[in-house]
Amino acid sequence: MKKGILISLAVIISYTTFAQSKCGVAFQDSLNQIISPTWLQRKSNFEYQVQQYTNALKASRIQEYPVIRIPVVVHIIHNTANKSVGGTNNINISEEQILSQIQTLNEDYRRKEGTAGYNTNAVGADMQLEFFLADSTATGESSKGITRHYTTKSGFDIVNELSEITAFSKWNPYKYLNIYVVKSGTTSTAITIGYSGFPFDAYVPGLIPSSQELKEQEIFDGVVVDYRYFGRCCGTISSSFNLGRTTTHEVGHWLGLLHPTGDVRCGTDYCDDTPTIESLNKGLTCNKMISTCNGNTVTNQIENYMDYSPDVCMNLFTNDQKIRTRAVLDLSIRRKTLVNNSTIVPESNTLQASVEPNPVKNNANIKVQFKGTENLTIQLISGNGSILNEYNFNDASSNYFLINTTNYQNGMYFLRVSTSKESKILRMLILK
Ligand SMILES: [Zn+2]
Repeated sequence: MKKGILISLAVIISYTTFAQSKCGVAFQDSLNQIISPTWLQRKSNFEYQVQQYTNALKASRIQEYPVIRIPVVVHIIHNTANKSVGGTNNINISEEQILSQIQTLNEDYRRKEGTAGYNTNAVGADMQLEFFLADSTATGESSKGITRHYTTKSGFDIVNELSEITAFSKWNPYKYLNIYVVKSGTTSTAITIGYSGFPFDAYVPGLIPSSQELKEQEIFDGVVVDYRYFGRCCGTISSSFNLGRTTTHEVGHWLGLLHPTGDVRCGTDYCDDTPTIESLNKGLTCNKMISTCNGNTVTNQIENYMDYSPDVCMNLFTNDQKIRTRAVLDLSIRRKTLVNNSTIVPESNTLQASVEPNPVKNNANIKVQFKGTENLTIQLISGNGSILNEYNFNDASSNYFLINTTNYQNGMYFLRVSTSKESKILRMLILK
């Protein structure tokens, strides 16, 4: 009973303070502190592990990681009785709108020149994460990675009604990133435009959650976004959050990133290259913000995707945010299982190899398929036939193999990909 009263008070305080909230993660965190007696301890244990791992990654000076491709399923929960798709004020959004969101994720998480996700910030990072609509279900049936579900309910409280939302549809979160598109807000609750489950909701080595917590974690692991803030085209899109960055932000949480404030004044997000700030940008402009924390005055990084800025202001993930997500993807068993599942490249009876992308800038991602395991060799060969470098991968399985081409000048090169039985020559153009 006491617990119930506390939760109700927290709800009232939150919803009367903000008519509209960008993201429900901080609010859920405050609820969890009330509901779960072990929440704060579990969180700090998780952070301790992430810090240890992050420090080790930084010490190793690894700058390039394999590109991880994350399969996504988008669940649309709509109240369109005639099931028509797309158009104004239709929660049952079009495939085009969904694809525009997937494209935004890929631009924001790859920081490629000529895309909206590009920046020239000295601490800016290519997160080397890509997202694609799952082309098959866990049982192998072909799929577009989109599910649609009708309900008479007109809107959801997307923080407190997660179990209702996931009851419509849920794909195995060990294999897919589940994204739910709903109408947020009910007659008694305001709009929270996005929400995400944190990886520390998932299993973390050494931290066995209670059976009650385990049950709660099984109910929800994914991202929820209001349909008016999803994607960057085609339907009814918000005027300020109109470029798909709400989902970029929520997927950042799903990967373990925090708000730059750490959700308290001058708190931490455990990243050294995001300045310590007083508050997030809750305004609707990209105006410069200044913070003074512990005597240091800094300019807020309002362009960071994990801030609350309008979409047009945002284009930045930092190097430390990248390293943190890599630590989380390795430490969270649930995320690690998903990554292992998603990066498996199917075997092939004969050697197959291709370079992605081609032309190459600083990294050649080479997809190689063969039977079983092999000691794989990839030679980088100049246009006139000299061997410039050789890369050996022992006991390798079919996979993507990354070669750093930063130190090579523009021009045509060759790659000789060899197993013990076969060899293939690929052409590769380096163009920077
Ligand atoms: Zn957030």
